[in-house]
Amino acid sequence: HENDRGQVEYLQAVDEFLPTVEVFLKENPAFIEANILGVLIEPERILQFRVPWQDDQGNWQVNRGYRVQYNSAIGPYKGGLRFHPSVNLSVMKFLAFEQIFKNSLTGLPIGGGKGGSDFEPKGKSDAEVMRFCQSFMTELQKHIGPSTDVPAGDIGVGAREIGYLFGMYKRLRNYDAGVLTGKPLGYWGSEARTEATGYGCVYFVKHLLNDSNDSFAGKKVVVSGSGNVSIYAMEKAKELGATVLTCSDSNGFIYDPNGIDVELVKELKEKNRERISKYVETHSDATYYDGQSVWDFEVAYDIALPCATQNEINETQAELLVKNGGKVVAEGANMPCTLEAVSVLDKAGVLYCPGKAANAGGVAVSALEMSQNSERLSWSFEKVDGMLDDIMKNIYETCRDTANKYDAANNFVLGANVAGFEKVARAMLSQGLV
Ligand code: NDP
Repeated sequence: HENDRGQVEYLQAVDEFLPTVEVFLKENPAFIEANILGVLIEPERILQFRVPWQDDQGNWQVNRGYRVQYNSAIGPYKGGLRFHPSVNLSVMKFLAFEQIFKNSLTGLPIGGGKGGSDFEPKGKSDAEVMRFCQSFMTELQKHIGPSTDVPAGDIGVGAREIGYLFGMYKRLRNYDAGVLTGKPLGYWGSEARTEATGYGCVYFVKHLLNDSNDSFAGKKVVVSGSGNVSIYAMEKAKELGATVLTCSDSNGFIYDPNGIDVELVKELKEKNRERISKYVETHSDATYYDGQSVWDFEVAYDIALPCATQNEINETQAELLVKNGGKVVAEGANMPCTLEAVSVLDKAGVLYCPGKAANAGGVAVSALEMSQNSERLSWSFEKVDGMLDDIMKNIYETCRDTANKYDAANNFVLGANVAGFEKVARAMLSQGLV
Protein backbone atom coordinates (compact mmCIF):
# COMPACT_ATOMS: atom_id res chain seq x y z
CA HIS A 1 0.00 0.00 0.00
CA GLU A 2 1.21 3.50 -0.86
CA ASN A 3 0.97 4.51 2.82
CA ASP A 4 3.34 1.72 3.87
CA ARG A 5 6.29 3.29 2.03
CA GLY A 6 9.27 3.73 4.30
CA GLN A 7 8.10 1.07 6.75
CA VAL A 8 11.37 -0.78 6.32
CA GLU A 9 10.97 -3.64 8.82
CA TYR A 10 7.36 -4.26 7.84
CA LEU A 11 8.12 -4.40 4.11
CA GLN A 12 11.08 -6.70 4.84
CA ALA A 13 8.81 -9.17 6.67
CA VAL A 14 6.22 -9.07 3.87
CA ASP A 15 8.91 -9.44 1.18
CA GLU A 16 10.23 -12.53 2.90
CA PHE A 17 6.75 -14.02 3.18
CA LEU A 18 5.02 -13.41 -0.15
CA PRO A 19 7.24 -15.36 -2.60
CA THR A 20 7.23 -18.45 -0.36
CA VAL A 21 3.45 -18.99 -0.41
CA GLU A 22 3.21 -18.95 -4.23
CA VAL A 23 3.70 -22.72 -4.38
CA PHE A 24 0.60 -23.20 -2.27
CA LEU A 25 -1.51 -20.64 -4.14
CA LYS A 26 -0.64 -22.24 -7.49
CA GLU A 27 -2.19 -25.48 -6.25
CA ASN A 28 -5.16 -23.68 -4.69
CA PRO A 29 -6.45 -21.04 -7.12
CA ALA A 30 -9.61 -20.45 -5.05
CA PHE A 31 -7.46 -18.46 -2.65
CA ILE A 32 -6.13 -16.28 -5.46
CA GLU A 33 -9.67 -15.65 -6.73
CA ALA A 34 -10.65 -14.53 -3.23
CA ASN A 35 -7.68 -12.11 -3.17
CA ILE A 36 -6.65 -13.74 0.08
CA LEU A 37 -3.23 -12.09 0.14
CA GLY A 38 -4.65 -8.64 -0.51
CA VAL A 39 -7.02 -9.04 2.42
CA LEU A 40 -4.57 -10.78 4.75
CA ILE A 41 -1.84 -8.17 4.29
CA GLU A 42 -4.14 -5.43 5.58
CA PRO A 43 -4.26 -5.39 9.42
CA GLU A 44 -7.79 -5.71 10.82
CA ARG A 45 -7.21 -2.76 13.16
CA ILE A 46 -4.35 -0.47 14.23
CA LEU A 47 -4.55 1.54 17.43
CA GLN A 48 -2.19 4.39 18.18
CA PHE A 49 -2.47 6.47 21.32
CA ARG A 50 -0.84 9.07 23.52
CA VAL A 51 0.78 7.92 26.77
CA PRO A 52 1.40 10.87 29.12
CA TRP A 53 3.22 10.13 32.38
CA GLN A 54 5.02 12.04 35.13
CA ASP A 55 8.73 11.49 35.84
CA ASP A 56 10.23 11.58 39.34
CA GLN A 57 10.90 15.30 39.03
CA GLY A 58 7.23 15.95 38.38
CA ASN A 59 7.69 16.75 34.68
CA TRP A 60 5.11 15.47 32.21
CA GLN A 61 6.56 13.19 29.56
CA VAL A 62 4.75 11.75 26.59
CA ASN A 63 5.28 8.57 24.58
CA ARG A 64 3.42 6.89 21.77
CA GLY A 65 1.53 3.64 22.35
CA TYR A 66 0.46 1.05 19.76
CA ARG A 67 -1.57 -2.10 19.38
CA VAL A 68 -1.77 -3.77 15.99
CA GLN A 69 -4.65 -6.26 15.87
CA TYR A 70 -3.60 -7.94 12.67
CA ASN A 71 -5.61 -11.11 12.21
CA SER A 72 -8.23 -12.89 14.33
CA ALA A 73 -9.20 -15.69 11.92
CA ILE A 74 -8.13 -18.49 14.26
CA GLY A 75 -8.43 -16.86 17.69
CA PRO A 76 -8.16 -13.70 19.80
CA TYR A 77 -5.24 -11.43 18.93
CA LYS A 78 -2.17 -12.59 20.81
CA GLY A 79 1.31 -11.11 20.90
CA GLY A 80 3.65 -9.21 23.15
CA LEU A 81 4.16 -5.60 24.13
CA ARG A 82 7.58 -4.07 23.40
CA PHE A 83 8.91 -1.02 25.25
CA HIS A 84 12.00 0.27 23.42
CA PRO A 85 12.96 3.63 21.89
CA SER A 86 13.17 2.01 18.42
CA VAL A 87 9.45 1.12 18.44
CA ASN A 88 7.47 2.68 15.61
CA LEU A 89 4.54 1.64 13.42
CA SER A 90 6.79 -0.30 11.02
CA VAL A 91 8.30 -2.39 13.84
CA MET A 92 4.86 -3.03 15.36
CA LYS A 93 3.41 -4.13 12.01
CA PHE A 94 6.31 -6.44 11.17
CA LEU A 95 6.07 -8.11 14.56
CA ALA A 96 2.27 -8.47 14.36
CA PHE A 97 2.48 -9.84 10.81
CA GLU A 98 5.02 -12.52 11.81
CA GLN A 99 2.92 -13.31 14.85
CA ILE A 100 -0.04 -14.43 12.70
CA PHE A 101 1.89 -17.35 11.19
CA LYS A 102 3.86 -18.12 14.33
CA ASN A 103 0.66 -18.45 16.33
CA SER A 104 -0.90 -20.58 13.62
CA LEU A 105 2.12 -22.93 13.70
CA THR A 106 1.67 -23.57 17.43
CA GLY A 107 -1.58 -25.42 16.62
CA LEU A 108 -3.36 -23.39 19.32
CA PRO A 109 -6.36 -21.06 18.83
CA ILE A 110 -4.63 -17.67 18.78
CA GLY A 111 -4.69 -14.84 16.24
CA GLY A 112 -1.88 -12.36 15.55
CA GLY A 113 -1.22 -9.02 17.24
CA LYS A 114 1.55 -6.92 18.74
CA GLY A 115 1.89 -3.68 20.64
CA GLY A 116 4.15 -1.47 22.65
CA SER A 117 5.65 1.95 22.96
CA ASP A 118 8.80 3.96 22.25
CA PHE A 119 9.20 4.29 26.04
CA GLU A 120 12.68 3.32 27.34
CA PRO A 121 12.44 1.48 30.69
CA LYS A 122 16.25 1.40 31.07
CA GLY A 123 17.43 4.03 33.54
CA LYS A 124 13.90 4.74 34.83
CA SER A 125 12.94 4.24 38.47
CA ASP A 126 10.37 1.59 39.41
CA ALA A 127 7.91 4.40 40.19
CA GLU A 128 8.38 5.92 36.72
CA VAL A 129 7.90 2.55 35.04
CA MET A 130 4.78 2.04 37.14
CA ARG A 131 3.29 5.40 36.19
CA PHE A 132 4.05 4.79 32.53
CA CYS A 133 2.44 1.31 32.62
CA GLN A 134 -0.63 2.68 34.38
CA SER A 135 -1.09 5.39 31.76
CA PHE A 136 -0.48 2.91 28.92
CA MET A 137 -3.10 0.50 30.30
CA THR A 138 -5.62 3.31 30.89
CA GLU A 139 -6.00 3.44 27.11
CA LEU A 140 -5.16 -0.14 26.13
CA GLN A 141 -7.81 -1.66 28.43
CA LYS A 142 -10.54 -0.34 26.13
CA HIS A 143 -9.36 -2.63 23.36
CA ILE A 144 -8.29 -5.89 25.02
CA GLY A 145 -9.89 -8.76 26.93
CA PRO A 146 -9.44 -12.50 27.56
CA SER A 147 -11.47 -13.44 24.46
CA THR A 148 -10.53 -10.41 22.33
CA ASP A 149 -6.85 -9.59 22.59
CA VAL A 150 -4.37 -10.95 25.13
CA PRO A 151 -1.01 -9.08 25.28
CA ALA A 152 2.19 -10.48 26.85
CA GLY A 153 5.82 -9.34 27.28
CA ASP A 154 8.60 -8.72 24.76
CA ILE A 155 11.71 -6.51 24.75
CA GLY A 156 11.59 -4.22 27.79
CA VAL A 157 8.42 -5.82 29.15
CA GLY A 158 9.07 -8.46 31.79
CA ALA A 159 7.45 -9.52 35.07
CA ARG A 160 7.71 -6.01 36.59
CA GLU A 161 5.91 -4.31 33.71
CA ILE A 162 3.30 -7.07 33.35
CA GLY A 163 2.58 -6.71 37.08
CA TYR A 164 1.96 -2.94 36.82
CA LEU A 165 -0.10 -3.36 33.64
CA PHE A 166 -2.21 -6.09 35.22
CA GLY A 167 -2.72 -4.05 38.39
CA MET A 168 -4.06 -1.11 36.40
CA TYR A 169 -6.33 -3.30 34.26
CA LYS A 170 -7.76 -4.75 37.47
CA ARG A 171 -8.46 -1.31 38.93
CA LEU A 172 -10.32 -0.27 35.81
CA ARG A 173 -12.08 -3.48 34.79
CA ASN A 174 -12.00 -5.88 37.78
CA TYR A 175 -9.95 -9.03 38.19
CA ASP A 176 -9.59 -11.17 35.10
CA ALA A 177 -6.46 -13.30 35.01
CA GLY A 178 -6.87 -14.11 31.32
CA VAL A 179 -6.28 -10.59 29.99
CA LEU A 180 -2.48 -10.76 30.00
CA THR A 181 0.02 -13.59 29.90
CA GLY A 182 3.51 -13.74 31.33
CA LYS A 183 2.04 -12.97 34.75
CA PRO A 184 4.02 -13.83 37.89
CA LEU A 185 3.25 -17.29 39.32
CA GLY A 186 1.54 -15.78 42.38
CA TYR A 187 -1.44 -14.55 40.39
CA TRP A 188 -2.06 -17.12 37.72
CA GLY A 189 1.07 -16.96 35.62
CA SER A 190 2.13 -20.26 34.08
CA GLU A 191 5.05 -22.38 35.15
CA ALA A 192 7.72 -22.45 32.41
CA ARG A 193 6.48 -19.26 30.69
CA THR A 194 9.66 -17.37 31.61
CA GLU A 195 11.77 -20.17 30.14
CA ALA A 196 9.50 -20.97 27.19
CA THR A 197 10.94 -18.96 24.30
CA GLY A 198 14.58 -19.78 25.00
CA TYR A 199 13.92 -23.43 25.87
CA GLY A 200 11.58 -23.76 22.89
CA CYS A 201 14.22 -22.45 20.48
CA VAL A 202 16.70 -25.03 21.75
CA TYR A 203 14.05 -27.79 21.57
CA PHE A 204 13.44 -26.88 17.92
CA VAL A 205 17.16 -27.35 17.15
CA LYS A 206 17.25 -30.53 19.27
CA HIS A 207 14.59 -32.10 17.05
CA LEU A 208 16.33 -30.87 13.92
CA LEU A 209 19.64 -32.40 15.03
CA ASN A 210 17.87 -35.56 16.12
CA ASP A 211 16.83 -36.16 12.49
CA SER A 212 20.48 -36.78 11.64
CA ASN A 213 21.20 -38.64 14.88
CA ASP A 214 23.02 -35.62 16.22
CA SER A 215 22.58 -33.63 19.44
CA PHE A 216 23.73 -30.55 21.38
CA ALA A 217 26.31 -32.61 23.28
CA GLY A 218 29.79 -31.20 22.69
CA LYS A 219 28.55 -28.41 20.39
CA LYS A 220 29.80 -24.83 20.61
CA VAL A 221 27.02 -22.27 20.62
CA VAL A 222 27.10 -18.52 20.09
CA VAL A 223 24.21 -16.54 21.58
CA SER A 224 23.41 -12.82 21.34
CA GLY A 225 21.42 -10.83 23.88
CA SER A 226 21.20 -11.40 27.61
CA GLY A 227 17.48 -10.90 28.13
CA ASN A 228 14.61 -13.27 28.68
CA VAL A 229 15.06 -15.31 25.49
CA SER A 230 18.88 -15.48 25.58
CA ILE A 231 19.15 -16.51 29.22
CA TYR A 232 16.91 -19.54 28.87
CA ALA A 233 18.29 -20.52 25.47
CA MET A 234 21.73 -20.58 27.10
CA GLU A 235 20.44 -22.51 30.11
CA LYS A 236 18.84 -25.27 28.02
CA ALA A 237 21.71 -25.53 25.50
CA LYS A 238 24.09 -25.96 28.42
CA GLU A 239 21.84 -28.55 30.06
CA LEU A 240 21.88 -30.55 26.82
CA GLY A 241 25.69 -30.62 26.84
CA ALA A 242 26.69 -27.63 24.72
CA THR A 243 29.22 -24.92 25.58
CA VAL A 244 27.79 -21.42 25.19
CA LEU A 245 30.65 -19.10 24.25
CA THR A 246 29.02 -15.67 24.16
CA CYS A 247 26.19 -13.39 25.17
CA SER A 248 25.67 -9.65 24.74
CA ASP A 249 23.65 -6.53 25.37
CA SER A 250 23.30 -3.36 23.35
CA ASN A 251 26.63 -2.06 24.70
CA GLY A 252 28.92 -5.00 23.88
CA PHE A 253 29.47 -8.73 24.23
CA ILE A 254 31.13 -11.30 26.49
CA TYR A 255 33.28 -14.17 25.27
CA ASP A 256 33.90 -16.85 27.87
CA PRO A 257 35.93 -19.81 26.53
CA ASN A 258 34.92 -21.84 29.61
CA GLY A 259 31.25 -21.44 28.80
CA ILE A 260 28.96 -18.61 29.90
CA ASP A 261 28.01 -18.72 33.58
CA VAL A 262 24.24 -18.46 33.10
CA GLU A 263 23.48 -18.07 36.81
CA LEU A 264 25.69 -14.98 36.90
CA VAL A 265 23.95 -13.53 33.83
CA LYS A 266 20.61 -14.10 35.55
CA GLU A 267 21.80 -12.28 38.64
CA LEU A 268 23.25 -9.37 36.66
CA LYS A 269 20.38 -8.89 34.25
CA GLU A 270 17.24 -10.27 35.89
CA LYS A 271 17.94 -9.32 39.48
CA ASN A 272 20.26 -6.30 39.46
CA ARG A 273 19.36 -4.80 36.04
CA GLU A 274 23.06 -4.26 35.33
CA ARG A 275 25.10 -4.22 32.13
CA ILE A 276 26.71 -7.41 30.82
CA SER A 277 30.17 -5.77 31.09
CA LYS A 278 30.04 -6.56 34.84
CA TYR A 279 30.48 -10.27 33.99
CA VAL A 280 34.27 -9.98 33.69
CA GLU A 281 34.61 -8.59 37.23
CA THR A 282 34.23 -12.14 38.58
CA HIS A 283 35.36 -14.19 35.53
CA SER A 284 38.94 -13.36 34.64
CA ASP A 285 39.12 -15.83 31.71
CA ALA A 286 36.27 -14.03 29.98
CA THR A 287 36.66 -10.94 27.78
CA TYR A 288 34.27 -8.03 27.33
CA TYR A 289 34.23 -6.42 23.88
CA ASP A 290 32.87 -2.92 24.36
CA GLY A 291 30.75 -1.44 21.56
CA GLN A 292 31.11 -4.54 19.37
CA SER A 293 28.65 -7.03 17.95
CA VAL A 294 29.10 -10.70 18.68
CA TRP A 295 28.42 -11.29 14.97
CA ASP A 296 31.72 -9.55 14.07
CA PHE A 297 33.69 -11.95 16.27
CA GLU A 298 35.96 -14.63 14.81
CA VAL A 299 35.63 -17.85 16.77
CA ALA A 300 34.83 -21.45 15.82
CA TYR A 301 31.33 -22.68 16.63
CA ASP A 302 28.54 -24.94 15.41
CA ILE A 303 25.26 -23.27 16.26
CA ALA A 304 24.19 -19.61 16.31
CA LEU A 305 21.20 -18.45 18.36
CA PRO A 306 20.51 -14.76 17.71
CA CYS A 307 18.26 -13.75 20.62
CA ALA A 308 18.49 -9.93 20.79
CA THR A 309 16.63 -7.97 18.12
CA GLN A 310 15.72 -7.50 14.45
CA ASN A 311 18.40 -7.14 11.76
CA GLU A 312 21.31 -7.85 14.08
CA ILE A 313 22.99 -10.10 11.44
CA ASN A 314 23.73 -8.51 8.06
CA GLU A 315 25.22 -10.03 4.91
CA THR A 316 28.88 -9.58 5.92
CA GLN A 317 28.19 -10.95 9.38
CA ALA A 318 26.41 -13.96 7.86
CA GLU A 319 29.51 -14.59 5.72
CA LEU A 320 31.63 -14.55 8.88
CA LEU A 321 29.17 -16.88 10.60
CA VAL A 322 29.68 -19.39 7.77
CA LYS A 323 33.47 -18.94 7.94
CA ASN A 324 33.34 -19.52 11.71
CA GLY A 325 31.82 -22.94 11.00
CA GLY A 326 28.16 -22.24 11.87
CA LYS A 327 25.95 -25.07 10.60
CA VAL A 328 22.64 -24.13 12.22
CA VAL A 329 21.08 -20.71 12.86
CA ALA A 330 17.92 -20.70 14.98
CA GLU A 331 16.28 -17.36 15.64
CA GLY A 332 15.26 -16.75 19.25
CA ALA A 333 14.65 -13.11 18.29
CA ASN A 334 12.19 -11.93 15.65
CA MET A 335 13.81 -11.35 12.22
CA PRO A 336 17.41 -11.02 13.50
CA CYS A 337 18.78 -11.85 10.03
CA THR A 338 18.40 -9.44 7.12
CA LEU A 339 17.10 -10.86 3.82
CA GLU A 340 20.66 -10.66 2.42
CA ALA A 341 22.02 -12.55 5.43
CA VAL A 342 19.45 -15.32 4.96
CA SER A 343 20.45 -15.64 1.33
CA VAL A 344 24.13 -16.07 2.34
CA LEU A 345 23.16 -18.77 4.86
CA ASP A 346 21.00 -20.59 2.29
CA LYS A 347 23.75 -20.61 -0.31
CA ALA A 348 26.24 -21.99 2.22
CA GLY A 349 23.85 -24.81 3.19
CA VAL A 350 23.43 -23.56 6.77
CA LEU A 351 20.22 -24.89 8.32
CA TYR A 352 18.30 -21.67 8.92
CA CYS A 353 15.36 -21.82 11.35
CA PRO A 354 13.25 -18.63 11.12
CA GLY A 355 11.95 -16.95 14.26
CA LYS A 356 8.30 -17.53 13.49
CA ALA A 357 8.98 -21.25 13.93
CA ALA A 358 11.97 -21.39 16.28
CA ASN A 359 10.77 -18.84 18.84
CA ALA A 360 7.10 -19.86 18.87
CA GLY A 361 7.53 -21.59 22.25
CA GLY A 362 6.88 -18.36 24.16
CA VAL A 363 3.52 -17.67 22.66
CA ALA A 364 2.63 -21.37 22.81
CA VAL A 365 3.09 -21.39 26.59
CA SER A 366 1.22 -18.07 26.76
CA ALA A 367 -1.71 -19.88 25.13
CA LEU A 368 -1.30 -22.65 27.72
CA GLU A 369 -1.41 -19.92 30.40
CA MET A 370 -4.75 -18.80 28.91
CA SER A 371 -6.03 -22.41 29.12
CA GLN A 372 -4.98 -22.67 32.77
CA ASN A 373 -6.60 -19.31 33.57
CA SER A 374 -9.85 -20.43 31.91
CA GLU A 375 -10.06 -23.62 33.93
CA ARG A 376 -8.80 -21.88 37.12
CA LEU A 377 -6.06 -24.45 37.54
CA SER A 378 -2.25 -24.37 37.44
CA TRP A 379 -0.23 -27.10 35.81
CA SER A 380 3.18 -28.30 37.03
CA PHE A 381 6.46 -27.12 35.49
CA GLU A 382 7.10 -30.63 34.15
CA LYS A 383 3.71 -30.79 32.47
CA VAL A 384 4.03 -27.40 30.75
CA ASP A 385 7.67 -27.99 29.78
CA GLY A 386 6.73 -31.40 28.33
CA MET A 387 3.92 -29.83 26.31
CA LEU A 388 6.33 -27.14 25.09
CA ASP A 389 8.80 -29.76 23.88
CA ASP A 390 5.99 -31.63 22.07
CA ILE A 391 4.74 -28.39 20.46
CA MET A 392 8.25 -27.49 19.25
CA LYS A 393 8.69 -31.00 17.84
CA ASN A 394 5.41 -30.63 16.02
CA ILE A 395 6.37 -27.21 14.64
CA TYR A 396 9.73 -28.52 13.46
CA GLU A 397 8.14 -31.55 11.77
CA THR A 398 5.46 -29.38 10.17
CA CYS A 399 8.11 -27.04 8.71
CA ARG A 400 10.24 -29.97 7.52
CA ASP A 401 7.37 -31.93 6.00
CA THR A 402 5.79 -28.89 4.32
CA ALA A 403 9.16 -27.97 2.77
CA ASN A 404 9.61 -31.55 1.55
CA LYS A 405 6.11 -31.60 0.08
CA TYR A 406 7.05 -28.66 -2.16
CA ASP A 407 10.47 -30.13 -3.11
CA ALA A 408 12.25 -27.58 -0.95
CA ALA A 409 14.05 -29.80 1.57
CA ASN A 410 15.50 -27.88 4.54
CA ASN A 411 13.80 -24.65 3.45
CA PHE A 412 12.20 -24.02 6.84
CA VAL A 413 11.20 -20.50 5.80
CA LEU A 414 8.97 -21.90 3.09
CA GLY A 415 7.77 -24.67 5.39
CA ALA A 416 6.86 -22.25 8.21
CA ASN A 417 5.22 -19.68 5.95
CA VAL A 418 3.13 -22.11 3.92
CA ALA A 419 1.97 -24.18 6.90
CA GLY A 420 1.23 -21.10 9.03
CA PHE A 421 -0.54 -19.36 6.16
CA GLU A 422 -2.67 -22.30 5.01
CA LYS A 423 -4.52 -22.63 8.29
CA VAL A 424 -5.22 -18.90 8.57
CA ALA A 425 -6.24 -18.62 4.91
CA ARG A 426 -8.67 -21.55 5.14
CA ALA A 427 -10.24 -20.03 8.25
CA MET A 428 -10.60 -16.64 6.54
CA LEU A 429 -12.25 -18.15 3.48
CA SER A 430 -14.69 -20.22 5.52
CA GLN A 431 -15.62 -17.13 7.57
CA GLY A 432 -16.36 -15.07 4.49
CA LEU A 433 -13.02 -13.29 4.80
CA VAL A 434 -13.91 -11.57 8.05
P1 NDP B 1 14.62 -8.57 26.69
O1 NDP B 1 14.26 -7.14 26.81
O2 NDP B 1 14.48 -9.46 27.86
O3 NDP B 1 16.14 -8.71 26.18
C1 NDP B 1 16.56 -8.17 24.98
C2 NDP B 1 18.05 -8.37 24.84
O4 NDP B 1 18.45 -7.96 23.54
C3 NDP B 1 18.84 -7.52 25.81
O5 NDP B 1 20.06 -8.14 26.11
C4 NDP B 1 19.06 -6.24 25.02
O6 NDP B 1 20.18 -5.49 25.43
C5 NDP B 1 19.28 -6.79 23.63
N1 NDP B 1 18.84 -5.79 22.65
C6 NDP B 1 17.60 -5.27 22.51
N2 NDP B 1 17.55 -4.37 21.54
C7 NDP B 1 18.80 -4.29 21.05
C8 NDP B 1 19.40 -3.54 20.02
N3 NDP B 1 18.69 -2.65 19.30
N4 NDP B 1 20.71 -3.76 19.77
C9 NDP B 1 21.43 -4.66 20.50
N5 NDP B 1 20.90 -5.40 21.49
C10 NDP B 1 19.62 -5.22 21.76
O7 NDP B 1 13.77 -9.11 25.44
P2 NDP B 1 13.43 -10.60 25.04
O8 NDP B 1 14.54 -11.51 25.41
O9 NDP B 1 12.07 -10.89 25.52
O10 NDP B 1 13.31 -10.49 23.44
C11 NDP B 1 14.43 -10.69 22.58
C12 NDP B 1 13.95 -11.02 21.17
O11 NDP B 1 13.15 -12.21 21.22
C13 NDP B 1 13.06 -9.97 20.50
O12 NDP B 1 13.29 -9.99 19.11
C14 NDP B 1 11.66 -10.48 20.80
O13 NDP B 1 10.70 -9.99 19.89
C15 NDP B 1 11.89 -11.98 20.63
N6 NDP B 1 10.88 -12.83 21.25
C16 NDP B 1 10.61 -12.76 22.59
C17 NDP B 1 9.68 -13.59 23.16
C18 NDP B 1 9.46 -13.65 24.63
O14 NDP B 1 8.74 -14.54 25.08
N7 NDP B 1 10.03 -12.78 25.43
C19 NDP B 1 8.87 -14.50 22.33
C20 NDP B 1 9.28 -14.58 20.95
C21 NDP B 1 10.24 -13.74 20.44
P3 NDP B 1 19.95 -4.21 26.38
O15 NDP B 1 19.67 -4.77 27.74
O16 NDP B 1 21.23 -3.46 26.30
O17 NDP B 1 18.80 -3.45 25.80
